[in-house]
Amino acid sequence: LESEILIIEDDSAIRRLLTIALEASGFSVRHAANAREGKAAVAMYLPALILLDLGLPDQDGQMLLKDIREWYFKPLIIISARDAESEIIKALDHGANDYITKPFRTAELLARIRVALRQNIKSVSEPLINFDGLEIDFGARIVKKHQLMVKLTATEYALLSLFVKNAGKVLTHQFILREVWGPGYTERTEYPRVFVGQLRKKIEDDSNAPKYIHTESGVGYRFQV
Ligand code: CA
Repeated sequence: LESEILIIEDDSAIRRLLTIALEASGFSVRHAANAREGKAAVAMYLPALILLDLGLPDQDGQMLLKDIREWYFKPLIIISARDAESEIIKALDHGANDYITKPFRTAELLARIRVALRQNIKSVSEPLINFDGLEIDFGARIVKKHQLMVKLTATEYALLSLFVKNAGKVLTHQFILREVWGPGYTERTEYPRVFVGQLRKKIEDDSNAPKYIHTESGVGYRFQV
């Protein structure tokens, strides 16, 4: 079902609250109260989106995230009381689409869920693209460099997709933050720099003299082919 959402969260009060809000918005909801149940439910139902808590009783949510991101590519949003920047960056780097700290506003969470689901529809409708040694298969989410597989995190992949879809255009830091991380992240100006750096190391021949991702000083970046 394209409207099925899986909540992996051990706090039953939050599960209940989320279920009411999601069902009222037309989603169907499944629950898991720990990491083991969560992993089994992801494999069994392949939900359209996952809401994942980090503080789970049997395994840290960051580990579970890393684990399921090996084979689950649909949107996943972290809902956690942890608000340390290092924790947020780690989750995004492990492939979370978004990160919402508790206590959260239900309306905002619903808005971010809609954004994540929309972005997913956009990204699966693209064909295969090849630029001079850099090959991207948007259907299969495979990136190759000189015919060798490049392993990208979900965030790096989202960033590369955004650049490719806007090839030739200057993308501002704000635009990149909004599109890749979501509307709540426009102040996180360090994210694009960090993640562009990582992406360059993986796709450029020389990350100090980039051929694909050019820096537009003080403004943002431009993908050029
Ligand atoms: Ca918890």
